[in-house]
Amino acid sequence: MPYNYDDENIFAKILRGEIPNKTVVETEHTLAFEDIQPQAPTHVLVIPKGRYVCFDHFYGEASDAEILDFHRVAAQICGDLGVAPGGGGAGYRTITNAGQDGVQEVPHYHLHILAGRPLGRMLPPVS
Ligand code: 5GP
Repeated sequence: MPYNYDDENIFAKILRGEIPNKTVVETEHTLAFEDIQPQAPTHVLVIPKGRYVCFDHFYGEASDAEILDFHRVAAQICGDLGVAPGGGGAGYRTITNAGQDGVQEVPHYHLHILAGRPLGRMLPPVS
């Protein structure tokens, strides 16, 4: 897939330590940190450390180790937050936006983890 990664995007700067972040978890391949403008009481962003623009870029080109680590970190955060339904938590939502119609603001792949309040239906149905 022909993606050009912009090394000046804000998450690249966070990964280089040029902009501070409130880190939740950091591993060899993955960083998770609090969203600067939370849309729920808990709003964590999970990003790979590699140079991937969006969902299909990451899953199309990342190594198995990067992909596994990314998901293990995201799942661990849901457990640590106490929101995983399997642990009696009230639940959460994961979202990833891609491109123009997906309204992706930052062109470095990221997963939103939202929790801490009822999140409502995902989108209104197409009429
Ligand atoms: P997107 O619309 O690309 O899916 O989401 C980008 C997210 O990044 C938004 O929720 C926005 O609040 C968050 N964000 C943008 N700039 C910064 C920043 O400098 N630090 C942090 N922690 N989050 C940011």
